[in-house]
Parts: sequence; structure tokens; C-alpha cells
Amino acid sequence: MSTVREEQCIQCGATFQVSLEEFIYKLDHGMKLPKRCKDCRRKNRETPDPYLGIRQVMRQYPSTKGPRHHVHGGVL
Ligand SMILES: [Zn+2]
Repeated sequence: MSTVREEQCIQCGATFQVSLEEFIYKLDHGMKLPKRCKDCRRKNRETPDPYLGIRQVMRQYPSTKGPRHHVHGGVL
């Protein structure tokens, strides 16, 4: 399958494609879908951007999430 979505870059207005795999991956992980083309994303990466939104995602999924530890009582 090579289905792609066409998205428009909010930064430069260029049309870019997002593969369906990437699209589903981002949805599954509660990540934001890319709103910028690869060129703009690379440019933004070179200059630190405080609005990366990664911290927000991290807050939604704290590192304490995970299977609980079941501690056995002292059975001797
Ligand atoms: Zn762009």
C-alpha cells in the first residue's frame, strides 16, 4: 500500500505528502500531524523552536505509565 495524504505546509504553503503509515503512527502515539513540509521542519530544527509541542505530549504520557508492579507478600 502506498497511500499518502496531501497536506499543505502552514509555513511556506507548499504541498507535501504524508504516508499513511506515518499518519497512523502519529495518531496512535497521540502525536501532532506534521503541518510543515520537510524543508521547513529541517529549517526549524536548525533554529531551536520553543513551540515544538514535544513537552506537551510528554506531559500527556508521563513516564510512570506502565504495568504495575505486583509485589508478592513475603511467602516463605
Ligand atoms: Zn514548508
